[in-house]
Amino acid sequence: MNVHESEKIAGLLSSNGYTKVSNMQMADIIVFNTCCIRDTAEKKILSKIGELKALKRKNKNLIIAIVGCMTQQEGKATSILNTYNYIDIILGSNNHLDLVKHINELSKKKKIVQIESLDNNNIIEDFPIYRESKYKAFVNITYGCNNFCTYCIVPYVRGPEISRNPQKIIEEITGLLSNGIKEITLLGQNVNSYKFEDIDFNKLLIMIDNINVVKEFWIRFMTSHPKDLDENIITTIANSKHICNNIHLPLQSGSNKILNLMNRKYNREQYLNIIKIIRDKIPHCGITTDIMVGFPYETEEDFLDTLDIIEKAQFMNAFTFIYSQRKGTPASEMPQIAPEIKKERIMKLIKKQNIIAKNISNEYVNNTYTAFVESYDHKNKILIARLQDGKQVNIKNNDISLLGCFVKIKIKNAGISALLGEVI
Ligand code: SAH
Ligand code: SF4
Repeated sequence: MNVHESEKIAGLLSSNGYTKVSNMQMADIIVFNTCCIRDTAEKKILSKIGELKALKRKNKNLIIAIVGCMTQQEGKATSILNTYNYIDIILGSNNHLDLVKHINELSKKKKIVQIESLDNNNIIEDFPIYRESKYKAFVNITYGCNNFCTYCIVPYVRGPEISRNPQKIIEEITGLLSNGIKEITLLGQNVNSYKFEDIDFNKLLIMIDNINVVKEFWIRFMTSHPKDLDENIITTIANSKHICNNIHLPLQSGSNKILNLMNRKYNREQYLNIIKIIRDKIPHCGITTDIMVGFPYETEEDFLDTLDIIEKAQFMNAFTFIYSQRKGTPASEMPQIAPEIKKERIMKLIKKQNIIAKNISNEYVNNTYTAFVESYDHKNKILIARLQDGKQVNIKNNDISLLGCFVKIKIKNAGISALLGEVI
């Protein structure tokens, strides 16, 4: 999500005559796109902002802008300006498209702060986007979130969920495919709850699957919410031509008590039931997840429930997090778990998930697949490709003419998260 927002900011600047430079010392404008989902992300950004003081002292004309959801926490913009008085512009994640207008106004004003929420009337369409890749792209379908999971700051900083007009989504995807993009990831905090008039997520997927400007393309989407991923959507994926057999379905915890305290609105039995439906309907589906440890009130028994469910669910990959207290969320008022216990649990979780992921990876060895070559790693001289189920394959090959192509490959070796393959 944030990567794509950075692409929009870069697109805006480059269409207004600015060019990208390779290091901060050469820049006339530095824009920080921030994230506040966990404390670690926020601390990292603040320390980077601190480093800019010396640059600003050397170059009085340097413009520094802080954008993104970190600025939208209550009182945050003021506290940033108080601590880092050399910042010129602070914009919320719904206001970054006004950046150039604000840069031009800086000669008249000393500091600019704009933090507004988004509604259906002010979604900005048809803006320039500086896409990082020529081969794959992100497309927003929803903004914001209505779910209020008790640990999460997103609904407070990004506001209520808004769905984009499906015609605009189809136009954007058609344009991208006509320009050679072959893999598109639809983005939203909870894509399954997309709803624009009578078009729901299932209908939207069918509309996208029917686009026929080019023959070969892949569609992915994230993030799904277990309470909203229904059987119709799973059937549509199974019957589609272009929608990948790849679902990111955050679990968060395997304990019913913790899921309830998190306000996730599903229990472990329902979660496992969705996994079963996916496995029954979509052969070889790559299922990935997000899991958190150390949520308030999590006992050893609750944690063992999480270890147990990951064994049952057999995730291809899991993003694992230590619960981070976010001011203003209900969970931040609950009794907190000691940091040592959180660390111990995350280590155990990662260890177990790594064994599961490695066993899944081993099953690919000696088989052949179609892979999409998405980038080239210059340092290691390898092509990075992805299978339809989302599994990454590294290919020791420096033939960059394969970039953006679907190729047949044979898997030679397996690591935990990536495979090693050969073009055949
Ligand atoms: N909308 C998506 C993604 C939200 S953020 C969803 O519902 O899954 C991505 C992940 O960050 C979440 O799935 C969750 O595992 C993690 N996360 C969110 N808030 C967190 C917090 N306060 N502490 C630790 N991890 C958190
Ligand atoms: Fe946060 Fe829950 Fe919304 Fe995801 S669904 S963004 S975790 S509130």
